[in-house]
Amino acid sequence: MSAAGGGLDLAGQVSQTGGMSQPITPPQTDLFARLWQAQAGDCALCGKAMPRSRFEVAHAAIWKKERPTFDHIIPRAAGGPDRAENLQLAHARCNKRKGKAQTGSLGRVRT
Ligand SMILES: [Zn+2]
Repeated sequence: MSAAGGGLDLAGQVSQTGGMSQPITPPQTDLFARLWQAQAGDCALCGKAMPRSRFEVAHAAIWKKERPTFDHIIPRAAGGPDRAENLQLAHARCNKRKGKAQTGSLGRVRT
């Protein structure tokens, strides 16, 4: 069983209460806000701006690809912790791409 990428899916991580099924809303957590601020809303992988909410983009399909997700700097597969110092925000699609590229190709991972 291999985890597809180092990405934490925001939607899967925080269970939103309240019955509204909007699985692609970013969580308004401290961690998210801190990372967002530190990166000025830019993707850590491609450097372009990320939409902060679904309503900043025209279509749900765009949001799905461009929404900010937590990216593990050291992938969990390589022992990276689920902690702030190992997390950065990246577009969902960049995160996904990185996850693929990372498998086995970067050589040694520092711990
Ligand atoms: Zn990006």
